[in-house]
Amino acid sequence: MSNNRTYSMVKPHAVADGHIGGILKMIEEAGFRIVALKKTRLNPEQAGKFYAVHEGRPFYEHLCQMMSEGPIVAMILEKDNAVADFRALIGSTDPAEAADGTIRKAFAKSKSENAVHGSDSDENAAIESSFFFSETERF
Ligand code: ADP
Ligand code: MG
Repeated sequence: MSNNRTYSMVKPHAVADGHIGGILKMIEEAGFRIVALKKTRLNPEQAGKFYAVHEGRPFYEHLCQMMSEGPIVAMILEKDNAVADFRALIGSTDPAEAADGTIRKAFAKSKSENAVHGSDSDENAAIESSFFFSETERF
């Protein structure tokens, strides 16, 4: 994937609390085009695979449980400099440190339940997008 696409998802607590629309509005108003979008659900094993890079860290088991407790919204987003610009839009992992105007400042409840995921590199954006979407689902 080139540097104009990233992968994101709305985490289960934010879906359950009715924030899909509010989050998508911020994403579109920031200039991202939605390339692919679906509401789906991870089981604990799939959540563990998605977050395998964090295996062994103290928050890993809770993270897998939290990410599989309800539906998520998965999406591929397009914009110049997508990965970095989307990380700026979502804000710091810990909402206490997230800047005003960021998605996490508006919707995160804790460092764990922080509303959205955003890829951290072009390489991971490609891997994560392929985890959820086939080639024919991206347009
Ligand atoms: P980010 O989502 O900002 O890229 P990380 O990749 O470091 O953050 O962590 C992945 C996810 O794991 C975070 O979004 C959050 O849900 C959870 N997490 C990370 N660090 C902690 C922590 N110290 N305590 C609880 N949950 C955490
Ligand atoms: Mg990360």
